[in-house]
Amino acid sequence: MKLVISQLKDGENPLSFDSEKDPELKAVARDLGTEGFKILSALKFQGILHKHEPDYYLNGNLDWNVEQVCSRCAETFSSPLHYDFQLALAHSGAHKKAKNADLVAEESEDLDLVFFEGNELDLKPLLHEQFVLSLPFKSLCKETCKGVCQHCGINLNRQECKCVNIPKENPFLVLKTITL
Ligand SMILES: [Zn+2]
Ligand SMILES: [Zn+2]
Repeated sequence: MKLVISQLKDGENPLSFDSEKDPELKAVARDLGTEGFKILSALKFQGILHKHEPDYYLNGNLDWNVEQVCSRCAETFSSPLHYDFQLALAHSGAHKKAKNADLVAEESEDLDLVFFEGNELDLKPLLHEQFVLSLPFKSLCKETCKGVCQHCGINLNRQECKCVNIPKENPFLVLKTITL
């Protein structure tokens, strides 16, 4: 997944990797595994690297399936993830030399800017990061997940507990007894 910049053509360079065919993306899957992710599918990346010297942009999308923990009921579940991303890439050498460095930063204000050195652009660490970013901040096993009962800890998706019938103590009830 190391791209030689001088060998890229101007304009669009389509890219496609699958961890079942590409050993480097397979290595990313292995690394994510040692970080604690339980991966349930192949890792897939498709994208287009736009080369418009001195600017480079990467539009990409990821597909994978990883076991997640529901933030409401704490059960594990699998759900396929699809993630689109866009990155601006800049040659660190050219960037240092450029007098209009501020301009580059301004142009990419809405985009994450990634620097690379030399004539090679290694997609491996970059994709590793994007796979991690593709995980939702808060994940639910399903939109309607009822969570667990705060009193008895029963998973309310599986069964109802009796706690729901206990009326909550109403601190304002006492006010009704006060006569003004
Ligand atoms: Zn849940
Ligand atoms: Zn309960």
